[in-house]
Amino acid sequence: MKEQTRIIRNLWPERERTPATTINPPLFKGSTVLFDSYEDMARAARREYSGITYGTDRLPTQRQLEEAIRDLEGGAVTRVFQSGIAAIQTVLMAFSKSGDHILVCDNAYAPGQRFCRQVLQKFNIDFTLIPPSVGADIEEYIRANTVLILLESPGSITFEIQDVRAITGVARQRDIVTVLDATWATPLYLKPFELGVDVSIHSVTKYISGYSDVLAGTVTTNERCSAVFRKFYKQMEIYTPAEECYLALRGLQSLATRLRQHEQSALFIAEWLRTVPLVDDVLHPALPSHPEHHLWKRDFRGSSGLFAFTFRQDYSETQLAAFINSLELFRLGYSWGGYKSLLTAAKIVRATPSRYAGKTIVRLSIGLEDASDLMHDLERGFAFLR
Ligand SMILES: *Cc1c(COP(=O)(O)O)cnc(C)c1O
Repeated sequence: MKEQTRIIRNLWPERERTPATTINPPLFKGSTVLFDSYEDMARAARREYSGITYGTDRLPTQRQLEEAIRDLEGGAVTRVFQSGIAAIQTVLMAFSKSGDHILVCDNAYAPGQRFCRQVLQKFNIDFTLIPPSVGADIEEYIRANTVLILLESPGSITFEIQDVRAITGVARQRDIVTVLDATWATPLYLKPFELGVDVSIHSVTKYISGYSDVLAGTVTTNERCSAVFRKFYKQMEIYTPAEECYLALRGLQSLATRLRQHEQSALFIAEWLRTVPLVDDVLHPALPSHPEHHLWKRDFRGSSGLFAFTFRQDYSETQLAAFINSLELFRLGYSWGGYKSLLTAAKIVRATPSRYAGKTIVRLSIGLEDASDLMHDLERGFAFLR
C-alpha cells in the first residue's frame, strides 16, 4: 500500500477504537459518520436506522450537553444552538406562521425583539410589546390570532419579574405557546416547567459555560411542544460545534459552586450599594425593596450575580465616563456570567411604560473576584461623581 493510502487508512483503525477512559468525555467532531454496512445505510435512507447518520444529526458531544440540560430542566426535549439568540429566533419561527400574532415582553433580549420587527414582520407575523411586569392582565393583549408569548424573567437589564404562573394559566386555556428566557436564573435557580411554561431558553454563553469563551444556547420544551420543535430543528439542519458543547459541559460541572459565589458576592455589593448616598434604586430581585420581590420568592430558588442600580441625580456623560473609566476590576463589555466582573451603563428606552424610562441604568455582572475588592473598586470610582 502506498504512503498516502496508509496515512488515511491508519488514522484511528477500527481495531483500536476503544478509547482510554478519561474523566471528560471525548470530543466528537465530524460531518461523515461511518455506517457498518450497506444494510445500515439503506435503513437510514428509509428512516429506520436508530444510529447517528451525519454531523447535523447531532454528534455525541452535542447530545451529551442536550441531555444534561434536559435532565436539569425536567423537559421532554432539548436542542443546542450556536448562540442564545439563534435559540430565540428558531423558537419564534418554529411556533408561528404567516398571519399569526406574537406577544413579546418589553424587557426581553433586544436582538430578539429586533428579529420580530425586521424578520418576522416580513413574513406577515405581527408582534406586540407588553409591559415587563405583566401577569394575569396578559389577557388584554391577546388577539384571536395570538400564538406565542415570549417572556424574560427577570429581564437582564431592568430585572422586572413577570407573574409567569398567571400568564401560563391564561395562555393554556387558549392554546398559546409560552416561551421563557430563563438565562438569569440558570436551570438551577428556576424551573420553568413547574410554572407551566412550554419552552425554556438559556444562553449557555453566560453562567452555564462560565468563562466568556463560548457562544451557545439551549431550547428545552415540554411534551406538548416537543414534536413540532424536534421536527423544526431537524429541518433547519442546525449544528453546534463540538468544542462549544465540550466547554459548556465542562462549565456545567462547576455551575452550582460558581453560582453560589456569584450570588453571595452580588448580594453583598447590592446591600452595600443601598447604603451609598448617591445611589437611588438597587434593581436586584432578592432585595425586599424590589417591586416583584414576592414573585422572586415564590418562583425562584436563588439569585445570580447580575443586577443594576440607578443614581439619585442625572450625571453628564463626562462625569459618568470619569466614574466608569476609573474602575480597575469592573471592565466594560457586553455579555455576562463569567468570572470577570463587567459593567454596562445606558439610558433605558422602552415602548411600554417603565419605572426606569429615561434613567441611566448601571448594570453589574459580579464575577468571582473577592467581593470586598469589588466594593472598594466602586467606592473609589464614586469619588469621581462627588
Ligand atoms: C445574552 C443573552 C441572550 C443571547 O445569548 P447569546 O448566546 O449571546 O446569543 C439571550 N437572552 C438573554 C437574557 C441574554 O442575556
